[in-house]
Amino acid sequence: MALRSVDDVLHYLLADAPKWGHEFRDLVHSLGAVLAEDVIAASNVPPADNSAMDGYAFRYCDLQMGRPIPISQRIPAGVIGEALQPRTAARIFTGAFIPQDADTVVAQEDCETSGGAVTVNAAVNKGQHIRPCGQDISFGQRLLAAGHRLQAADLGLLASLGVSQIAVSKVIKVALMSTGDELREPGEELGEGQIYNSNRPMLAAMIRALGCEVVDLGIVADSPAATKAALLLARDSADVVISSGGVSVGEEDHVKAQVEALGELQFWKLAIKPGKPLAYGKLSKVPFFGLPGNPVSSFVTFGLLVRPYLLAMQGVAEPLVPQWPAVANFEWPKAGSRQEYLRARVMPSATGLQVDIHPQQSSGALTSVSWCNALAVIPIGVTLQRGDGVEIIFLRDLS
Ligand code: AMP
Ligand code: MG
Repeated sequence: MALRSVDDVLHYLLADAPKWGHEFRDLVHSLGAVLAEDVIAASNVPPADNSAMDGYAFRYCDLQMGRPIPISQRIPAGVIGEALQPRTAARIFTGAFIPQDADTVVAQEDCETSGGAVTVNAAVNKGQHIRPCGQDISFGQRLLAAGHRLQAADLGLLASLGVSQIAVSKVIKVALMSTGDELREPGEELGEGQIYNSNRPMLAAMIRALGCEVVDLGIVADSPAATKAALLLARDSADVVISSGGVSVGEEDHVKAQVEALGELQFWKLAIKPGKPLAYGKLSKVPFFGLPGNPVSSFVTFGLLVRPYLLAMQGVAEPLVPQWPAVANFEWPKAGSRQEYLRARVMPSATGLQVDIHPQQSSGALTSVSWCNALAVIPIGVTLQRGDGVEIIFLRDLS
């Protein structure tokens, strides 16, 4: 079977990703959710001119350096003052709305008070220290676009408009199964020939980071019957099914055959390292991904292919993983026949982003993933000298 390129398969997957429905969700539970529609401001923020300082509000025409002006009222934040009487000042606090007819605020540090009057001791510009109505958001402004993933600051922004519920993509339920007779869960005793299941918590975390819910089916034995039962349970309890391991063509690899028997399967040998085998298909209409069992391979293939797919389902406008130009601080003397994703550390420098790679690049060595903050992308047939350009993918864009 000819190897397929990562780009090729990614574009196929993105075109095939079903579009997911929408729901209204409380704003406080919407971190990481994807906006279903544009957000248009229904009010101004701030809603009125207000003071940027603790100080005194004046009519500019009344001000004269060194002349005492009687204080006629006191306006803390949240209190609406009276219209400012001519030739008087209002004591005012940060955030309080500017009283009618006042047009200038002087900070308290630039004033002196005595006997109920205030004297200004500094040069003043008309309109100073007033945050105008709509300075942050103006009525009718398109604030956020459909397809945007909500970040912490967006939640604050929406709250500033009084929004308490928002239309976002529905939560996708993702069934996760780890195939392998050799696997035990952390906390259990390891017997001869056994290893701990590291893919399960790692992939579950990557799925949850996308705002999806994990339906955790645990470890599945390497037998046709156990694989079939787990796939049926997964299909019936989730919107997307992801397995790790058992996807190659060895005698102990049952995932491919069982998916083929239960639904339809696309199986690719990808020109990717770490990685290579990837199964994709449908169990009835439920999308299925069979990731390779090696932990680094399942991390990388999830990040590069499954993550964009789940984002596309949620309607993210730009699900592709961005690549950045950087400079290799390492040598790569031997050209490969698959595109390589080296675990790398990227540091800023005066001459651009500098890239170092982890000395252990085995697909079983999770230390390299835990250590790295980026993957360095080495295209097929490419060798590198120190100082050559190399593209990198930040880990934060994968996980
Ligand atoms: P497989 O794809 O099932 O042939 O597995 C490839 C390699 O990855 C083998 O060395 C497995 O023991 C290992 N492996 C598979 N699944 C896991 C897992 N969930 N956690 C840790 N290692 C795994
Ligand atoms: Mg296996």
